[in-house]
Amino acid sequence: MSKRDYYEVLGVAKTASESELKVAFRKLAMVHHPDRNPGDKEAEIKFKEVNEAYQCLSDGQKRAAYDRFGHAAFSQGGAGGPGFGNEFGDFMSDIFENFFGDGRGAPGGGAGRGRGGAPGRERGADLRYNLEISLEEAFAGKTETIRIPTSIACETCSGTGAKAGSKPRTCSTCGGYGRVRAAQGFFAIERTCPNCHGRGEVVDDPCPSCSGAGRVNRERTLSINVPAGVDDGLRIRLAGEGESGLRGGPAGDLYVFLSIKPHPFFQRDGADLFCRVPISMVTAALSGEITVPVIDGSQTQVRIPAGTQTAKQFRIKGKGMPVLRSREVGDLYIQVSVETPQNLTKRQRELLQEFDQSASDENHPESAGFFSKVRDFFVSGATRA
Ligand SMILES: [Zn+2]
Ligand SMILES: [Zn+2]
Repeated sequence: MSKRDYYEVLGVAKTASESELKVAFRKLAMVHHPDRNPGDKEAEIKFKEVNEAYQCLSDGQKRAAYDRFGHAAFSQGGAGGPGFGNEFGDFMSDIFENFFGDGRGAPGGGAGRGRGGAPGRERGADLRYNLEISLEEAFAGKTETIRIPTSIACETCSGTGAKAGSKPRTCSTCGGYGRVRAAQGFFAIERTCPNCHGRGEVVDDPCPSCSGAGRVNRERTLSINVPAGVDDGLRIRLAGEGESGLRGGPAGDLYVFLSIKPHPFFQRDGADLFCRVPISMVTAALSGEITVPVIDGSQTQVRIPAGTQTAKQFRIKGKGMPVLRSREVGDLYIQVSVETPQNLTKRQRELLQEFDQSASDENHPESAGFFSKVRDFFVSGATRA
């Protein structure tokens, strides 16, 4: 029997978009659904044909192969590979999850029975660990020992959940499938088996150490390597270090979320560090040298030239943060703020007044410039009026 063209089966153009394919498929799947056409062999064949066409065309890679080579792409030895022409049952659970979403396969939720996985073998949950470190630790990198409450495979029963000498028995309600079907209207709805809770097997004689769960709660100690240069919000994934799977299922992952404590005087911008340093009015006017802190715990000198104004920045090359997984290092920026003297004595006041009397516009070019602009503004305003 020669196979019909997949596009023809779905009644769409070769240029059909993904959503057009989906709409066409759903419509046909409902029309030919076996539950709607009980005992109708032809409907069943049509249904399978529609299913097969959609399975191919909804998969970008398979569709591309089909467009080039037609059905030959999936014949023996072709590019099709395994997984094509899925079992009826597998397809059923897929489509109904898409339509109704019964909560299985939620992100990070240990997606029940994954594709091809044995029933009951559940992947362990992913774990999240919040690790707060200081800026100095982010600068140098560190090894942190963390303790995580988690569950590990039960040693007594090697994760099977059954008491020594006994074995789990296949669930009679679902025949080991883990899901049961119930009719609702013309749809068959799949549910998690109420007898075995989706495991597909029943433990008659539970292991005393884990009460049949196959895993036990335990605190685990792990050593985490935090590399130099990490930034706030970084996530480190430790594959397989999450919770153990149920009954021999794969372990989840551990995610370490890094946050960096605010520093009392350094602000970080990527690899650069900023530090605001107050200097005296006299140092700013006459020049001088100030000592500033460095993130590595040392100090360095910065030369302040005469006539330095507030907010002036000085760059110290290579004294910032290391760049993660590179040899680059950021810079340290020192921003000065000129401190106006307070709590003056009588004598200090006199000295400053004396200075003021001798001062000219040349001592304060910025002020002089600003006030002359203001004057011009009012003069031209008066002319306009
Ligand atoms: Zn056990
Ligand atoms: Zn069952």
